[in-house]
Amino acid sequence: MKYHDMHYERIDVSEKRKIMQTWVDEFSKTDQFEEQIKILKDVDQLSREYQTYESIADLNFSRNINDQKAKEEKEYYDQISPDMQEIFNKLDKAINSSPFKEKLTKKWGKTFIEKIELDLKIFDPSIKDLLNKETDLCNEYTKLTAGAKIDFEGKSYNLAGLGPFHSNQDRETRKKSYQARFKWFEHNSNDLDLIYDKLVKVRHQIATTLGYDNFIELGYYRMGRSDYGPKEVSNFRKQIVDHVVPIVGEIQKKKKDILGLDALYFYDGINFKDGDPTPKGTPEELVKKAQEMYHELSSETGEFFDMMVNEDLMDLVNRDGKRPGGFCTSFPKYDRPYIFSNFNGTDHDITVLTHEAGHAFQCYSSRHQPLVSYLWPTMEAAEIHSMSMEFFTWPWMDKFFKEETERFKYKHISGSLSFLPYGACVDHFQHWVYENVNATPKERNQKWLELESKYLPNRDYDELDFPKSGGIWQGQLHIYQMPFYYIDYTLAQTCAFQFWAKSEENREEAWEDYLRLCKAGGSLSFTKLVDLAKLKSPFDDGCLESVVKNVKNWLESIDVQKL
Ligand SMILES: [Zn+2]
Repeated sequence: MKYHDMHYERIDVSEKRKIMQTWVDEFSKTDQFEEQIKILKDVDQLSREYQTYESIADLNFSRNINDQKAKEEKEYYDQISPDMQEIFNKLDKAINSSPFKEKLTKKWGKTFIEKIELDLKIFDPSIKDLLNKETDLCNEYTKLTAGAKIDFEGKSYNLAGLGPFHSNQDRETRKKSYQARFKWFEHNSNDLDLIYDKLVKVRHQIATTLGYDNFIELGYYRMGRSDYGPKEVSNFRKQIVDHVVPIVGEIQKKKKDILGLDALYFYDGINFKDGDPTPKGTPEELVKKAQEMYHELSSETGEFFDMMVNEDLMDLVNRDGKRPGGFCTSFPKYDRPYIFSNFNGTDHDITVLTHEAGHAFQCYSSRHQPLVSYLWPTMEAAEIHSMSMEFFTWPWMDKFFKEETERFKYKHISGSLSFLPYGACVDHFQHWVYENVNATPKERNQKWLELESKYLPNRDYDELDFPKSGGIWQGQLHIYQMPFYYIDYTLAQTCAFQFWAKSEENREEAWEDYLRLCKAGGSLSFTKLVDLAKLKSPFDDGCLESVVKNVKNWLESIDVQKL
């Protein structure tokens, strides 16, 4: 079966509501444990269908935001989402008060009940309209940013299409391309401020309606975080400031020397004088090479990637009307994942083939988990699979980068480390925003600049006025659409670096640990998955410090002038 052969339909909400009510009644009435299990399995099946159709609707729209029919289908699923939440919420309540709660925990593990408890904390029928409002605002952001038409050197580009110019080897081109990008943002900044302001306020209202002081606690629950809170995250951010920010400063200094510049500006995002490494080959050739790579990596990845290719489960290349960015989604009814990205000729294209494939491989590997809610782990755990896959595929990078392989590796690892402070900055910013709901757009920008000076002290925007005014965060989709989904990347990177070090020492063992982690899917919480994979928890004292020491040693062992 190929992607296009998958069945799609609109779920009939009132029909599902009736079915669910019958199940809830039967579930609450029966004194037979087996009967309850049977009902929960039926619900699981319904959930798989619903999630599959919703994913298809969302994906088709992402593939072409100008397709009116696709837009209508996505809007339909957006609009029924709170209704469906309400329908599942009824069953959650019944399970939570079931006398068999303990027996259910024994059968499916503690995570099963924990997830239900979290679901109950994030939803109440009274917030349905507010949820719809929130979704509409998120969609406004997509519409605005995906529709960007930026004139640059006589041609029109969308934001992703402009990307390659940002890492052009010619400094003037880089600077001008950023000026073009930020001119667009400046032109739209009022609208972007307005959307965000409304989003923050509606989220705050949702939180207070549910009985929380502000959105932060709710935001953590929405992310499914059951084993840590803002305190642990704040402590982790502090470790980044203490142990990573100084090393990033050194990397920057080194970069200045490599590039032979007297000052390093924001637009000097490249790593080498004659430009960053680029993948060699057409998109089709790159996919072919990736297929060979995954065959050599392991039998599991070989089988998996063949399936992705043969069943048309990837849409990789940038084109007009395509939503920016990359992601992995899934169709649980068919046990299949899907990779979406915007290849644009940069080394990032390869990172997509490894990063998103890591997500997809995990999702496919956990298809035998008994419940659809165990298919995906929480995001900070999910990013371990993707970021670690970026490292597990290192031995094959010469297939893509030829003579530029060492350059790619240097860029990859120094970039991954340099990302940590930025990730922490985005996270810190959001905590402040939701604690200060009534801050003005200007105050938000000022706060951003203040945080930048703490986490990214070496950033210099030169003459780029828009980011100088503190507005650069408006380009960060997560801040708008996925609140608090960001520190996840830094937590996961801390774990992925451990896999990297492990695989250098003992590849087989590292791969076994990784595979075990992938198969576990979302059946455990973050810190338990970390244990299962025999990794150190990023929250443990000294973890980050020892992890970055390894990275630092590796970076210092490279003679960058010879790259
Ligand atoms: Zn990811």
